[in-house]
Amino acid sequence: MKNTFFPKENRPLIIAGPCSVESETQLVETAIRLKKTGSVDMIRGGIWKPRTRPNSFEGVGVIGLPWMKKVKQMTGLPVTTEVAKASHVELCLEFDIDVLWIGARTTVNPFAVQEIADALKGVDIPIMVKNPINPDLALWLGGVERLQKAGLNKIAAIHRGFSFSGEKYYRNRPQWQYPIDFKQAMPEIPMINDPSHICGRRDILQKVSQKAMDLNFDGLMIESHITPDEAWSDAKQQITPKVFGEMIKNLILREYDPTKNPKRSELEKLRKQINLIDDELITILSSRMAVARNIGEYKKENNITILQSDRWKVILDKYNHSAKIHGLSEDFMTRFIKAVHDESINQQEKIFEG
Ligand code: PEP
Ligand code: MN
Repeated sequence: MKNTFFPKENRPLIIAGPCSVESETQLVETAIRLKKTGSVDMIRGGIWKPRTRPNSFEGVGVIGLPWMKKVKQMTGLPVTTEVAKASHVELCLEFDIDVLWIGARTTVNPFAVQEIADALKGVDIPIMVKNPINPDLALWLGGVERLQKAGLNKIAAIHRGFSFSGEKYYRNRPQWQYPIDFKQAMPEIPMINDPSHICGRRDILQKVSQKAMDLNFDGLMIESHITPDEAWSDAKQQITPKVFGEMIKNLILREYDPTKNPKRSELEKLRKQINLIDDELITILSSRMAVARNIGEYKKENNITILQSDRWKVILDKYNHSAKIHGLSEDFMTRFIKAVHDESINQQEKIFEG
Protein backbone atom coordinates (compact mmCIF):
# COMPACT_ATOMS: atom_id res chain seq x y z
CA MET A 1 0.00 0.00 0.00
CA LYS A 2 1.09 3.56 -0.69
CA ASN A 3 2.74 5.39 2.20
CA THR A 4 0.79 8.56 3.02
CA PHE A 5 2.38 10.07 6.10
CA PHE A 6 0.92 13.43 6.89
CA PRO A 7 -0.49 15.28 3.95
CA LYS A 8 1.04 18.64 3.17
CA GLU A 9 0.98 20.11 -0.31
CA ASN A 10 4.30 21.90 -0.14
CA ARG A 11 7.34 20.87 1.78
CA PRO A 12 8.59 21.36 4.42
CA LEU A 13 6.35 20.02 7.18
CA ILE A 14 7.29 21.98 10.30
CA ILE A 15 6.90 20.39 13.73
CA ALA A 16 7.77 22.46 16.80
CA GLY A 17 7.20 22.45 20.53
CA PRO A 18 8.94 21.86 23.82
CA CYS A 19 11.37 19.02 24.42
CA SER A 20 9.30 18.10 27.49
CA VAL A 21 5.78 18.97 28.47
CA GLU A 22 6.27 20.60 31.89
CA SER A 23 2.95 22.19 32.82
CA GLU A 24 -0.34 23.06 31.18
CA THR A 25 0.62 26.75 30.98
CA GLN A 26 4.07 26.09 29.55
CA LEU A 27 2.68 23.80 26.83
CA VAL A 28 -0.37 25.87 25.91
CA GLU A 29 1.57 29.18 25.89
CA THR A 30 4.35 27.72 23.73
CA ALA A 31 1.86 26.24 21.29
CA ILE A 32 -0.19 29.45 20.99
CA ARG A 33 2.93 31.53 20.34
CA LEU A 34 4.21 29.00 17.82
CA LYS A 35 0.85 29.07 16.03
CA LYS A 36 1.06 32.89 15.87
CA THR A 37 4.29 32.69 13.86
CA GLY A 38 2.26 31.12 11.06
CA SER A 39 5.15 28.73 10.42
CA VAL A 40 4.16 25.62 12.33
CA ASP A 41 2.15 22.61 11.10
CA MET A 42 2.27 20.34 14.14
CA ILE A 43 3.01 20.67 17.87
CA ARG A 44 5.42 18.31 19.62
CA GLY A 45 5.87 17.70 23.33
CA GLY A 46 7.57 14.89 25.24
CA ILE A 47 5.27 13.31 27.83
CA TRP A 48 7.56 10.40 28.74
CA LYS A 49 11.24 11.32 28.58
CA PRO A 50 13.98 8.75 28.13
CA ARG A 51 16.86 10.18 30.17
CA THR A 52 20.44 8.99 30.08
CA ARG A 53 20.84 9.21 33.88
CA PRO A 54 18.20 8.47 36.53
CA ASN A 55 17.06 11.27 38.82
CA SER A 56 16.64 13.61 35.84
CA PHE A 57 13.14 14.76 34.94
CA GLU A 58 11.43 11.79 33.29
CA GLY A 59 8.37 13.56 31.94
CA VAL A 60 5.02 14.50 33.50
CA GLY A 61 3.47 11.29 32.18
CA VAL A 62 -0.23 10.69 31.71
CA ILE A 63 -1.38 13.96 33.36
CA GLY A 64 0.10 15.80 30.37
CA LEU A 65 -2.11 14.07 27.81
CA PRO A 66 -5.25 16.21 28.44
CA TRP A 67 -3.00 19.30 28.02
CA MET A 68 -2.00 18.03 24.59
CA LYS A 69 -5.69 17.64 23.77
CA LYS A 70 -6.30 21.21 24.90
CA VAL A 71 -3.49 22.44 22.62
CA LYS A 72 -5.20 20.67 19.73
CA GLN A 73 -8.49 22.38 20.46
CA MET A 74 -6.98 25.82 21.01
CA THR A 75 -4.65 25.88 18.01
CA GLY A 76 -6.39 23.54 15.59
CA LEU A 77 -2.99 21.92 15.04
CA PRO A 78 -2.24 18.20 15.27
CA VAL A 79 -0.06 17.08 18.19
CA THR A 80 2.69 14.49 18.49
CA THR A 81 4.55 12.77 21.33
CA GLU A 82 7.11 10.02 21.88
CA VAL A 83 6.08 6.45 22.68
CA ALA A 84 8.46 3.79 23.95
CA LYS A 85 6.16 0.95 24.96
CA ALA A 86 2.67 -0.50 24.49
CA SER A 87 1.18 1.31 27.50
CA HIS A 88 2.25 4.68 26.02
CA VAL A 89 0.60 3.77 22.73
CA GLU A 90 -2.67 2.83 24.42
CA LEU A 91 -2.77 6.09 26.39
CA CYS A 92 -1.99 8.19 23.30
CA LEU A 93 -4.82 6.55 21.38
CA GLU A 94 -7.17 7.14 24.32
CA PHE A 95 -6.29 10.86 24.38
CA ASP A 96 -6.44 11.36 20.59
CA ILE A 97 -2.78 12.16 20.01
CA ASP A 98 -2.58 12.62 16.23
CA VAL A 99 0.94 11.43 15.47
CA LEU A 100 3.42 9.29 17.42
CA TRP A 101 7.17 9.06 17.28
CA ILE A 102 9.68 6.44 18.34
CA GLY A 103 12.79 7.94 19.95
CA ALA A 104 16.42 7.18 19.15
CA ARG A 105 16.88 5.16 22.34
CA THR A 106 13.92 2.98 21.41
CA THR A 107 14.77 2.42 17.74
CA VAL A 108 17.94 0.63 18.89
CA ASN A 109 15.81 -2.02 20.59
CA PRO A 110 13.90 -4.36 18.24
CA PHE A 111 11.92 -5.83 21.17
CA ALA A 112 10.57 -2.39 22.07
CA VAL A 113 9.82 -1.44 18.45
CA GLN A 114 8.01 -4.76 17.98
CA GLU A 115 5.97 -4.15 21.14
CA ILE A 116 4.89 -0.75 19.75
CA ALA A 117 4.11 -2.26 16.34
CA ASP A 118 1.97 -4.98 17.98
CA ALA A 119 0.10 -2.39 20.05
CA LEU A 120 -0.68 -0.50 16.83
CA LYS A 121 -2.03 -3.43 14.80
CA GLY A 122 -5.16 -2.30 12.99
CA VAL A 123 -4.67 1.39 13.93
CA ASP A 124 -3.22 3.32 11.01
CA ILE A 125 -2.00 6.36 12.99
CA PRO A 126 0.88 8.40 11.51
CA ILE A 127 4.17 7.49 13.19
CA MET A 128 7.75 8.76 12.89
CA VAL A 129 10.85 6.68 13.52
CA LYS A 130 13.96 8.46 14.73
CA ASN A 131 17.32 7.08 13.72
CA PRO A 132 18.96 4.85 16.32
CA ILE A 133 21.63 6.47 18.52
CA ASN A 134 24.38 4.55 16.69
CA PRO A 135 24.91 4.88 12.93
CA ASP A 136 23.26 1.62 11.87
CA LEU A 137 21.11 1.97 8.75
CA ALA A 138 19.69 -1.57 8.97
CA LEU A 139 18.41 -0.94 12.50
CA TRP A 140 16.64 2.24 11.35
CA LEU A 141 15.12 0.56 8.28
CA GLY A 142 14.23 -2.46 10.43
CA GLY A 143 12.21 -0.24 12.77
CA VAL A 144 10.18 1.05 9.84
CA GLU A 145 9.73 -2.48 8.46
CA ARG A 146 8.32 -3.72 11.78
CA LEU A 147 5.67 -0.98 11.64
CA GLN A 148 4.92 -1.71 7.98
CA LYS A 149 4.47 -5.40 8.80
CA ALA A 150 1.93 -4.40 11.47
CA GLY A 151 -0.07 -2.71 8.68
CA LEU A 152 0.95 0.92 9.26
CA ASN A 153 1.06 3.03 6.11
CA LYS A 154 1.62 6.54 7.43
CA ILE A 155 5.26 6.40 8.38
CA ALA A 156 7.99 9.04 8.35
CA ALA A 157 11.63 8.93 9.45
CA ILE A 158 13.41 11.50 11.60
CA HIS A 159 17.13 12.13 11.27
CA ARG A 160 18.46 13.34 14.66
CA GLY A 161 22.14 12.52 14.30
CA PHE A 162 24.36 9.90 15.92
CA SER A 163 26.22 9.78 19.19
CA PHE A 164 30.05 9.71 19.10
CA SER A 165 32.25 9.95 22.14
CA GLY A 166 34.55 12.95 21.97
CA GLU A 167 32.32 14.88 19.54
CA LYS A 168 32.54 18.56 20.44
CA TYR A 169 30.84 20.58 17.71
CA TYR A 170 27.51 18.75 17.53
CA ARG A 171 25.54 16.99 20.24
CA ASN A 172 24.83 14.20 17.76
CA ARG A 173 26.95 14.14 14.62
CA PRO A 174 24.66 14.36 11.56
CA GLN A 175 26.47 11.89 9.24
CA TRP A 176 24.26 13.04 6.36
CA GLN A 177 25.09 9.94 4.31
CA TYR A 178 22.75 7.86 6.51
CA PRO A 179 19.50 9.74 5.75
CA ILE A 180 20.63 9.87 2.11
CA ASP A 181 21.11 6.08 2.08
CA PHE A 182 17.80 5.64 3.91
CA LYS A 183 16.03 7.60 1.16
CA GLN A 184 17.63 5.38 -1.49
CA ALA A 185 16.37 2.28 0.31
CA MET A 186 12.88 3.63 1.10
CA PRO A 187 12.11 6.55 -1.24
CA GLU A 188 8.43 6.60 -0.25
CA ILE A 189 9.14 7.44 3.41
CA PRO A 190 9.29 11.21 4.13
CA MET A 191 12.51 12.26 5.89
CA ILE A 192 12.29 14.89 8.61
CA ASN A 193 15.35 16.55 10.10
CA ASP A 194 15.66 17.26 13.84
CA PRO A 195 18.31 19.98 14.01
CA SER A 196 17.70 20.50 17.76
CA HIS A 197 19.09 17.11 18.79
CA ILE A 198 21.83 17.24 16.16
CA CYS A 199 23.11 20.64 17.33
CA GLY A 200 22.43 20.55 21.07
CA ARG A 201 22.94 24.33 20.92
CA ARG A 202 21.15 27.32 19.42
CA ASP A 203 23.84 29.06 17.40
CA ILE A 204 24.07 26.49 14.58
CA LEU A 205 20.38 25.52 14.32
CA GLN A 206 19.76 27.78 11.32
CA LYS A 207 22.76 26.41 9.45
CA VAL A 208 21.82 22.76 10.00
CA SER A 209 18.16 23.40 9.11
CA GLN A 210 19.25 25.07 5.89
CA LYS A 211 21.48 22.14 5.03
CA ALA A 212 18.53 19.76 5.56
CA MET A 213 16.44 21.86 3.18
CA ASP A 214 19.25 21.87 0.61
CA LEU A 215 19.38 18.07 0.87
CA ASN A 216 15.65 18.02 0.11
CA PHE A 217 14.40 16.83 3.49
CA ASP A 218 10.61 16.80 3.76
CA GLY A 219 10.35 18.56 7.10
CA LEU A 220 11.89 19.82 10.32
CA MET A 221 11.25 19.08 13.99
CA ILE A 222 12.45 21.90 16.21
CA GLU A 223 12.35 22.22 19.99
CA SER A 224 10.82 25.45 21.23
CA HIS A 225 10.05 26.70 24.74
CA ILE A 226 8.63 29.98 26.11
CA THR A 227 11.62 30.34 28.47
CA PRO A 228 14.29 28.02 27.01
CA ASP A 229 16.91 28.66 29.68
CA GLU A 230 14.49 27.39 32.31
CA ALA A 231 13.52 24.24 30.42
CA TRP A 232 13.53 21.00 32.44
CA SER A 233 15.30 19.14 29.63
CA ASP A 234 17.50 20.12 26.68
CA ALA A 235 17.62 23.77 27.79
CA LYS A 236 20.65 24.64 25.68
CA GLN A 237 19.08 23.71 22.36
CA GLN A 238 15.54 25.12 22.73
CA ILE A 239 14.54 28.45 21.18
CA THR A 240 11.66 30.80 21.85
CA PRO A 241 8.68 30.72 19.47
CA LYS A 242 9.79 34.17 18.25
CA VAL A 243 13.28 32.96 17.31
CA PHE A 244 11.70 29.87 15.76
CA GLY A 245 9.47 32.07 13.58
CA GLU A 246 12.46 34.10 12.38
CA MET A 247 14.47 30.97 11.71
CA ILE A 248 11.79 29.42 9.52
CA LYS A 249 11.30 32.68 7.60
CA ASN A 250 15.06 32.86 6.97
CA LEU A 251 15.15 29.42 5.35
CA ILE A 252 15.81 29.45 1.63
CA LEU A 253 13.70 26.81 -0.10
CA ARG A 254 15.22 25.77 -3.39
CA GLU A 255 13.70 23.95 -6.35
CA TYR A 256 14.35 20.20 -6.33
CA ASP A 257 13.85 19.54 -10.03
CA PRO A 258 16.67 21.03 -12.15
CA THR A 259 14.88 20.24 -15.41
CA LYS A 260 12.49 23.11 -14.69
CA ASN A 261 15.29 25.65 -14.88
CA PRO A 262 15.69 27.54 -18.20
CA LYS A 263 19.49 27.43 -17.75
CA ARG A 264 19.49 23.66 -17.23
CA SER A 265 21.98 23.04 -20.06
CA GLU A 266 24.74 24.64 -17.94
CA LEU A 267 24.12 22.07 -15.22
CA GLU A 268 23.95 19.27 -17.78
CA LYS A 269 27.37 20.28 -19.10
CA LEU A 270 28.90 20.29 -15.63
CA ARG A 271 27.33 16.93 -14.82
CA LYS A 272 28.83 15.46 -17.99
CA GLN A 273 32.24 16.67 -16.78
CA ILE A 274 31.69 15.01 -13.42
CA ASN A 275 30.63 11.76 -15.12
CA LEU A 276 33.83 11.72 -17.18
CA ILE A 277 35.96 12.36 -14.11
CA ASP A 278 34.15 9.57 -12.24
CA ASP A 279 34.93 7.21 -15.14
CA GLU A 280 38.60 8.16 -14.89
CA LEU A 281 38.52 7.71 -11.12
CA ILE A 282 37.17 4.18 -11.50
CA THR A 283 39.82 3.35 -14.12
CA ILE A 284 42.58 4.73 -11.89
CA LEU A 285 41.29 2.83 -8.86
CA SER A 286 41.16 -0.39 -10.81
CA SER A 287 44.75 0.13 -12.06
CA ARG A 288 45.82 0.74 -8.47
CA MET A 289 44.18 -2.52 -7.39
CA ALA A 290 45.92 -4.39 -10.24
CA VAL A 291 49.28 -3.17 -8.94
CA ALA A 292 48.24 -4.05 -5.38
CA ARG A 293 47.50 -7.60 -6.57
CA ASN A 294 50.97 -7.80 -8.18
CA ILE A 295 52.46 -6.71 -4.87
CA GLY A 296 50.33 -9.44 -3.25
CA GLU A 297 51.84 -12.07 -5.59
CA TYR A 298 55.34 -10.82 -4.75
CA LYS A 299 54.69 -10.88 -0.99
CA LYS A 300 53.22 -14.37 -1.18
CA GLU A 301 56.18 -15.75 -3.15
CA ASN A 302 58.67 -14.09 -0.81
CA ASN A 303 56.78 -14.89 2.41
CA ILE A 304 56.27 -11.26 3.44
CA THR A 305 53.30 -9.99 5.48
CA ILE A 306 50.60 -7.95 3.74
CA LEU A 307 50.93 -4.99 6.10
CA GLN A 308 54.03 -2.93 6.79
CA SER A 309 52.88 -0.25 9.24
CA ASP A 310 55.72 2.17 8.49
CA ARG A 311 54.94 2.05 4.74
CA TRP A 312 51.24 2.63 5.46
CA LYS A 313 52.15 5.62 7.61
CA VAL A 314 54.10 7.16 4.72
CA ILE A 315 51.03 6.81 2.44
CA LEU A 316 48.69 8.29 5.07
CA ASP A 317 51.00 11.25 5.68
CA LYS A 318 51.31 11.87 1.95
CA TYR A 319 47.53 12.04 1.57
CA ASN A 320 47.11 14.32 4.58
CA HIS A 321 49.77 16.63 3.21
CA SER A 322 48.19 16.70 -0.27
CA ALA A 323 44.76 17.32 1.27
CA LYS A 324 46.01 20.68 2.54
CA ILE A 325 47.59 21.64 -0.78
CA HIS A 326 44.46 20.79 -2.77
CA GLY A 327 41.95 22.38 -0.40
CA LEU A 328 40.37 19.06 0.61
CA SER A 329 39.54 18.23 4.21
CA GLU A 330 41.96 15.97 6.05
CA ASP A 331 39.00 13.99 7.35
CA PHE A 332 37.81 13.21 3.81
CA MET A 333 41.29 12.30 2.55
CA THR A 334 41.89 10.00 5.52
CA ARG A 335 38.56 8.22 5.07
CA PHE A 336 39.19 7.95 1.32
CA ILE A 337 42.69 6.46 1.48
CA LYS A 338 41.69 4.16 4.36
CA ALA A 339 38.88 2.74 2.20
CA VAL A 340 41.26 2.31 -0.76
CA HIS A 341 43.91 0.71 1.45
CA ASP A 342 41.34 -1.62 2.99
CA GLU A 343 40.32 -2.82 -0.48
CA SER A 344 44.00 -3.36 -1.44
CA ILE A 345 44.46 -5.53 1.67
CA ASN A 346 41.34 -7.55 0.81
CA GLN A 347 42.58 -8.11 -2.74
CA GLN A 348 46.01 -9.21 -1.47
CA GLU A 349 44.40 -11.50 1.08
CA LYS A 350 42.50 -13.24 -1.72
CA ILE A 351 45.82 -13.85 -3.46
CA PHE A 352 47.32 -15.25 -0.23
CA GLU A 353 44.32 -17.57 0.14
CA GLY A 354 44.32 -18.61 -3.54
C1 PEP B 1 13.22 14.23 21.88
O1 PEP B 1 12.78 14.40 20.72
O2 PEP B 1 13.01 14.99 22.82
C2 PEP B 1 14.12 13.08 22.11
C3 PEP B 1 14.21 12.45 23.27
O3 PEP B 1 14.85 12.83 21.04
P1 PEP B 1 15.85 11.62 20.67
O4 PEP B 1 15.05 10.36 20.75
O5 PEP B 1 16.24 12.01 19.29
O6 PEP B 1 16.99 11.69 21.63
MN1 MN C 1 14.82 16.93 23.58
